[in-house]
Amino acid sequence: MLVLLWLFQTVFLESFYKAIKTQNIKSTAENITTNINNENLDTLLSTLAQRNDTCIRIVDENFANLYSYETTFECTIHKMGVGEMEAFRQKARQEGGTAFELISRDVMQEFRGKVEKKGWNMPPPGGNMRVENMVYVRLVERADGSQVMVMLNSTITPVGATVETLRIQLIYVTVILLVLCVGLALLLSRQISKPIIRINRSAKELAKGQYDTTFSGGGYREISELTDTLNYAAKELSKVEGLRRELIANISHDLRTPLTMITGYAEVMRDIPGENTPENVQIIIDEAKRLTDLVNDLMDISKLQSGAMTLSLSECNLTETVRDIMARYMKLTEQDGYHIKFICDGEAMVSADEIKISQVIYNLINNAINYTGPDKNVTVCQSVRDGFVKLEIIDTGDGIAPEEIPYIWDRYYKVDKAHKRAMIGTGLGLSIVKNILDLHGGAYGVISTVGQGSIFWFELNTLEPKKLK
Ligand code: ADP
Repeated sequence: MLVLLWLFQTVFLESFYKAIKTQNIKSTAENITTNINNENLDTLLSTLAQRNDTCIRIVDENFANLYSYETTFECTIHKMGVGEMEAFRQKARQEGGTAFELISRDVMQEFRGKVEKKGWNMPPPGGNMRVENMVYVRLVERADGSQVMVMLNSTITPVGATVETLRIQLIYVTVILLVLCVGLALLLSRQISKPIIRINRSAKELAKGQYDTTFSGGGYREISELTDTLNYAAKELSKVEGLRRELIANISHDLRTPLTMITGYAEVMRDIPGENTPENVQIIIDEAKRLTDLVNDLMDISKLQSGAMTLSLSECNLTETVRDIMARYMKLTEQDGYHIKFICDGEAMVSADEIKISQVIYNLINNAINYTGPDKNVTVCQSVRDGFVKLEIIDTGDGIAPEEIPYIWDRYYKVDKAHKRAMIGTGLGLSIVKNILDLHGGAYGVISTVGQGSIFWFELNTLEPKKLK
């Protein structure tokens, strides 16, 4: 801005001033030309002469004055003789009706001449005073066919003194502005950087693991938004940290339980004669299997949640898959008196990852077996409808309280930790089910009434449903 000011106010001031003057004199001539036949031309000329500080002289073809307005004493056109006027007329004719000239005169010289003529005391020698005049001449036809010559004169005031004044003013303006700018910049940067420094300090604390750190910013909107975001991030981090601790505690507990059982039974079998029975060995095998299941579940869930697990989709017969799984439960049915039924209304072909969908069905049937009521009834029901197949796993157990239902799909959630059967599961089964069904884009849910059992269901799109013959 300062550079621009300097350029416009000092370097280009004279050219600007001259350009404006030229424009002014030309528009005055234009105005006169349009009104040349106007009966009030007299008044118009006098107004124009005063307003624009311009001398106006209009002469006829014989250079006789028709109108004359002299506003400055340095005027050139009023001093012009017939010869000079003739020269201007010739020039205007050659240049298409107008002529323009900048005439510079030494008025001091003229003044001395006058003084000498009158015989007055001569002013001291030396010194000159040059005056520059802008002369614009225009040949105009009047309504009666006669041609007049409109002559305009505008004095160009020397801008040297003005430029000098402006220069001094600009030096002051520059100094004041620079001081103000530096002060303002320091003030602003301090106001912006202070909260950022504070936020940075808090962020370092957060990085060290102090999740209760609060960020305080204030001041600018962007900084307070950043503070809010960081406070939110800190809160979420502390939640994750809490979950991590809980998860480790839960997993350690679940790993320790079967390990205690294995060690306990193994010691009993070693120390007490006659305790080395197949039943005790079976307990050790079962507990070891539980450990394996837990570790497998943990691996599955971490793969699913990190997005590392991908589906290998293939065309498979869901009904057939369920039947295969049911066959494996036959032994359980025989040994422990469970009644596991499979009802289906057709063959359902789906595009799915067969192994993962089997895992879903296993988990749901296992839960149903674990949580079903004393009648030990579990029903698996498949229904094919309008392009999709629905599988329902129904038990007759205690059901799930409505307020618990939204959480059972969460990782490591167990409704009743004191429940004797809660010992059976890892709390990961439904989370794995949810993740696999999400990957398949299938709908799923649970309908459960406390005391009347639960129905866990999921749906998949079918490829070509066939009716069972
Ligand atoms: P778990 O391995 O403990 O069964 P899940 O993720 O499979 O873990 O289930 C989470 C919780 O949901 C269980 O602890 C249980 O309380 C409840 N739940 C799951 N299935 C049933 C069911 N069929 N009937 C009653 N409660 C169930």
